[in-house]
Amino acid sequence: MAGKIKEIQAADFEKEVLGKERAVIDFYSTECPPCEALAAKYENLSMIYGDDINFVKIFRQGNKDLAAELDVSGSPTVLFYENGKRVGKTLTGGILRSDLMEGLDALLPAEKAEELHAKIEQVVTNADTVVLGGGPAGLTAGIYLAQAHLNTIVVDTALPGGYVATTHQVSNYPGFVEPQPGMMLSHYMGEQAKANGVKFRSAVDVSKVDLLNKNLVVDGYETIEAKKIVIATGSRPRPLDIPGEKEYAGQGISYCATCDGKYFEDKEIIVIGGGNSSIEESLFLSKFAKKITIVHQFDTLQANKEAQNKIFADDKVDIMFEHEPREFKKYGNMDMAVVVENLKTGELSELRTNGVFVFVGFIPNLEVFNDEMELDQWGYLKTSETMETNIPGVFAAGDVRTKQYRQITTAVADGTIAAITISKELT
Ligand SMILES: Cc1cc2nc3c(=O)[nH]c(=O)nc-3n(C[C@H](O)[C@H](O)[C@H](O)COP(=O)(O)OP(=O)(O)OC[C@H]3O[C@@H](n4cnc5c(N)ncnc54)[C@H](O)[C@@H]3O)c2cc1C
Repeated sequence: MAGKIKEIQAADFEKEVLGKERAVIDFYSTECPPCEALAAKYENLSMIYGDDINFVKIFRQGNKDLAAELDVSGSPTVLFYENGKRVGKTLTGGILRSDLMEGLDALLPAEKAEELHAKIEQVVTNADTVVLGGGPAGLTAGIYLAQAHLNTIVVDTALPGGYVATTHQVSNYPGFVEPQPGMMLSHYMGEQAKANGVKFRSAVDVSKVDLLNKNLVVDGYETIEAKKIVIATGSRPRPLDIPGEKEYAGQGISYCATCDGKYFEDKEIIVIGGGNSSIEESLFLSKFAKKITIVHQFDTLQANKEAQNKIFADDKVDIMFEHEPREFKKYGNMDMAVVVENLKTGELSELRTNGVFVFVGFIPNLEVFNDEMELDQWGYLKTSETMETNIPGVFAAGDVRTKQYRQITTAVADGTIAAITISKELT
């Protein structure tokens, strides 16, 4: 095993972990992408902290009893020990190097941690193309670029896969007769990219992105310099930020009618929002639902007139103007409630429903970029037909760019166009 790491079995736990002044354990599994993402970081940090902290790896499947005893139920899981006692946070899933360093630093006197930080070497990696974002757009760009023999690195602040990885079932992506669990679809895309030679930096901190000079810093110590950059960082639903939203997202609260509408056949739905996407999505949901109640904060809809005419003519739809949601509650499967406030009277009431769709807009993930970029009125990146942004050599693909419809197929198409354009320019 490379780095200053010992692979141990349960029998050595007492000696190698409890018996040491300071120790860290990585419980890993095979066929585990987040474990692979962690392995490189763990190895690299063992070279820095390894003389002061005992770095240990334990194969979880081979040491199930110990894992159960330590409450380790996911891979990877990282645990920290000081003088035989478990300390600090338990890290699991897509573990950031910065979180790992925080746990390691906490085991050491502050001066020692500082001394070790000063020893961290800055490295420079060169690539033909760096793709920011490993969702469908970024992975597709990666596949095409690698197939054109271009040295390509996909950088993702989380584990690659994007939204698809968290989508329960995808039934509209061509090539599969049966609906696919989103997790599997994104896994296939990631594996295909890897098989074609794409390199990954997964679950990393991204900083100092300089689009003009085509470089960025990953995890604070690796500068990646590229000839071209593809921005495929996607967007995220604008949250309402009210109680119950985080808890029930994906369990009764949805942000995508195309994806989840079919699960509400003959059911009652509440839709939050009165803009274009809300009204158009409500018209789509009306194909499935028995009844739709739209909750909207203003006294008129903000959607285009044609959509408004259609929604007013739809018998299944009621609109509660001048109301705002204040809380989501769940009473059981397909039994929820939205607490709404009448903005005129301040009165609160509870609306029972089978599910809620929130359409109060999306936010493009562009916070990491400081360069001046041309955006549309909603803050999405403008591109040419070939997906190039206003900055030469910087392309955008997928949900982050301006477009009418945001789907996996359209993200994949953008990634393809950007990559073919780049391949023609670089080869
Ligand atoms: C709940 C839900 C369900 C959906 N279901 C369907 C469906 O059934 N069918 C369908 O066709 N479409 C569906 N969609 C839409 C579809 O998922 C998106 O259109 C598609 O994922 C867009 O791909 P993308 O690659 O542009 O972005 P994303 O999938 O959002 O991927 C972006 C990636 O960029 C990474 N990232 C973010 N910021 C940074 C940064 N600063 N640096 C590096 N990386 C970064 C993220 O971690 C993420 O991995 C659904 C959307 C939602 C919200």
